[in-house]
Amino acid sequence: MQKALRASSLVPPGFAVMGTENEDGKTLIVVRSTARASPCPSCGAGSRQIHSHYQRQIGDLPIAGRSVHLVAFVRRFRCRAVRCAQGIFAERFAAGILAPWARRTGRLEELVHHLGLALGGRPAASFARRLMLPVSNDTLLRVVRRRGTPAAPPPNIIGIDDWAWRRNHRYGTIICDLERRRPIRLLPDREPATTEAWLTGQPQISVVARDRGGAYARATAKALPHATQVADRWHLMENASQAFLDAVRRSMRQIRRSVGAMTINPKLLTAAERLQYEGYLHREETNASVMAIAKRGASIKEIVRQTGHSRGLVRRILRGERSDVFRVRESSLENYLPWLDEQWTAGCRNGAELWRRLKGQPFRGSLRVVTEWATRRRRAERVDTEGLHHVPSARTIARLMTIGRDNLTKAETVTIAAVETGVPTLVEARTLVSGFHDMIRRKAEADLVPWIERGRDSLVASFANGVSRDIDAVRAAIVSPWSNGQTEGQITKLKLVKRQMYGRGKLDLLQARLIGPS
Ligand SMILES: [Zn+2]
Repeated sequence: MQKALRASSLVPPGFAVMGTENEDGKTLIVVRSTARASPCPSCGAGSRQIHSHYQRQIGDLPIAGRSVHLVAFVRRFRCRAVRCAQGIFAERFAAGILAPWARRTGRLEELVHHLGLALGGRPAASFARRLMLPVSNDTLLRVVRRRGTPAAPPPNIIGIDDWAWRRNHRYGTIICDLERRRPIRLLPDREPATTEAWLTGQPQISVVARDRGGAYARATAKALPHATQVADRWHLMENASQAFLDAVRRSMRQIRRSVGAMTINPKLLTAAERLQYEGYLHREETNASVMAIAKRGASIKEIVRQTGHSRGLVRRILRGERSDVFRVRESSLENYLPWLDEQWTAGCRNGAELWRRLKGQPFRGSLRVVTEWATRRRRAERVDTEGLHHVPSARTIARLMTIGRDNLTKAETVTIAAVETGVPTLVEARTLVSGFHDMIRRKAEADLVPWIERGRDSLVASFANGVSRDIDAVRAAIVSPWSNGQTEGQITKLKLVKRQMYGRGKLDLLQARLIGPS
């Protein structure tokens, strides 16, 4: 059975439509309350005695792409209760329909709130304009702020971590309910006292997952002495990797010495040189054939037809413009290049010496021709050699030492082999750190104490000592199912929200937007 659409179904319940008007592209709907009486805000007694009327304009949801304002004829009632001091009051509407003095209906306010939470002030305002919602940037933020954060149920298992308002400048604290997988609170700083104060108000908390910084550990120990502290697995893994990087940094002097004394794999270099030389021979062959045809008096066009080379190339050859590393100005050297290359590869790299040896052959070129060739040759080679003798940064070495042989280039393999041979303590440190990662992953709690013992005599001793001082929390990290991993995820979300607010977000707004509607 079909029903006709009634005008009153377009406005919030409790209102009757008296008429509509169009004004400047927006729709005005004139409404009045359908209730006979209204409760007095002071004493709660219902009153039917109307004192007067007044008009209120209230923003509402758009209809058919047009923004809508309700023009409400609101009544003033007189409270007749004997002991009530109220006298006259404006009529009240049901909760969620229209709040006293509100300029928007409850349903518009709800939408505005969600827009503000999802997009923040300015982006939400421009989106709201498109949706024909009559709200400004300020209004959006005001609504988000006024509605605050929904009260979360008291948490039992929490993760706590810091986050950067501004990197290396100012930090806040985020607290997540690990069971419900939700952020529940932002604190304005990461001072132990601030955290302690909040934790003290939550005596039901039984597990606290935190980083190994110490501040949160101390705050938790003071506020919740009976709670189990869990060192965060993600931070533990990260700290272990950091300890290895520090070990590499402290070994840089030995690393430089080992890499500097490294002998270059001659095969690696001569292969590159050979390729270069073969390319040269090929080019020379082309040049010679072109020149030979030209000598017989052929035009460029004919040469192009005969050889199949491009016109540009033939022209460059005829002008003598085609040069490369092995190209020599004096043609006197050309016939001796293979011999020179052989000598060079055999280790004779002194121009004057090469020239003296060349003179034993019927060579009429000057000393300068040979020394210039040697210089060019040396320059070409240095590019490769420097690539090998260059010592990468500590961070790069730490990475190369831990990513597995198959992923290294030839030059990297040579460098890392030199480091491993020259600085065996680093190899030990690497073994320890990967052993630690493995222990956490495999949840091998029994390995913890032996690992600390071995670690104490290594380059990662200070990390091992730190683990030893925090051993209960580290053990809990291995055996407990709770970890701060999800807190990390919430921090990522927080960063995104913060960025959307152009760094101007206040803590309450950030918190409202992060924790969001319930
Ligand atoms: Zn009253």
